[in-house]
Amino acid sequence: MSDPKAETGKNRVHLRILWGLVVGIVAGITCNALATQGYLDPNSLEVFVKRVAEPIGKIFLRLILMVVIPLVVSALILGVLELGDLRKLGRLGMKTLGLTVALSSIAVCISLIVVNVIQPGKSLPAEKQAALADQYETKAREMLDKADKAKPIEQILLDLIPENPLREMTGALDGSSLGNGILAVMVFSLLIGIAISLGGVETEVLKPIIESVLEVCMIIIRMAMMLAPFCVALLLFSVTATLGLNILQALIWFVVAALSGMAIHFFLVYSIFVGFIARRSPWKFFRDVSEASLTAFATSSSNATLPTAIRVAEERLKLPRTVSRFVLTIGATGNQNGTALYEGVVILFIAQLLGHDLSAGQQLQVLLMAILAGVGTAGVPGGSIPMIALVLQSIGIDGSSIGIILGIDRLLDMCRTVLNVVGDLVLTACVAKGAEIDPIESSLTE
Ligand code: ASP
Repeated sequence: MSDPKAETGKNRVHLRILWGLVVGIVAGITCNALATQGYLDPNSLEVFVKRVAEPIGKIFLRLILMVVIPLVVSALILGVLELGDLRKLGRLGMKTLGLTVALSSIAVCISLIVVNVIQPGKSLPAEKQAALADQYETKAREMLDKADKAKPIEQILLDLIPENPLREMTGALDGSSLGNGILAVMVFSLLIGIAISLGGVETEVLKPIIESVLEVCMIIIRMAMMLAPFCVALLLFSVTATLGLNILQALIWFVVAALSGMAIHFFLVYSIFVGFIARRSPWKFFRDVSEASLTAFATSSSNATLPTAIRVAEERLKLPRTVSRFVLTIGATGNQNGTALYEGVVILFIAQLLGHDLSAGQQLQVLLMAILAGVGTAGVPGGSIPMIALVLQSIGIDGSSIGIILGIDRLLDMCRTVLNVVGDLVLTACVAKGAEIDPIESSLTE
């Protein structure tokens, strides 16, 4: 569980990132205005942006991307292992898995709809969009364009199963893999996890090793995040110095899109699941889970909220202990609807902002990746950042463009964590409805 000191430290980092955002924006807009008025040489400003601010700003992202492949592989294998022995779990496990996939898929579909309707990234004038795209374009984009245009949908689906997983791993970040890159790596990791849990392999030896790999990756990411305030200031300086005030307008629409998507999922989808599957009054349910919602909002961490969620499930919702402990523990990392939805919104927003109309194949890829990324995201503040950077890179967009949204991420993190935690409680109530707890299930969950 979470250590309060560490939580305070994380809060301070987020506050510093927010400061980085403010300083970067104010300095960038001032320089942009001075250059437009002729008080500052626009060429010198461009050279400073391209040769100093941007390269230094990208350092923290490089550190994250460096460990993202081992992070994804270990997090997904552990995610499956935490489900325990799939055969023994029987109906309880299958119901949890089925409902998790359903809730996450709906969440990502909502993100696609909101971004396509609100079009938050289209508020930039064409020439500013071109300037921004120029700043963040990578060669990978051309490669991916070529690959995707030629690839029919059945091939994209077949490529989910990698012929050569190592090749997919090495090519995942620059789009040079032959198949679906990171998506294929995710499927590979899920299958390894399933094989370990089905094959009766000695997990006592294997599991701690995989857990250590994950922990090492998390330490490096924490180190990278310490540089984030400084790097975010430089990245936002680069963006605002080039684009002026327009980028702020796009950011406001982005927040509107993300919050609308979350509100639809929370009030509509959760109410339907609670009313029709769990057969409870949604109004009473939301009131009963308010303590867990507030804790999630305050901590931005599903893991830190787990004890409160378990207590709420047992004391307020009166759900059977065997079901609630099992489903909520898995749900804290495995069922992250808010995160899946947010990842979809960010990726499509940044693609729009840079003027990319994603093809149907690429949108499908984003959909699948966001669902799987929801499973592989750690339930800690900012847990989804590495995943978003990874998915961006894999569709050919420079991962450092994530710097554009990083400054306001904390606020949206608080909101999506509420969805994640309440989603776990919705899932528990649905699974508990009519679940017959047999002795095996009970022993697994005690
Ligand atoms: N903060 C989220 C959680 O703990 C994860 C994320 O989306 O960053 O559920």
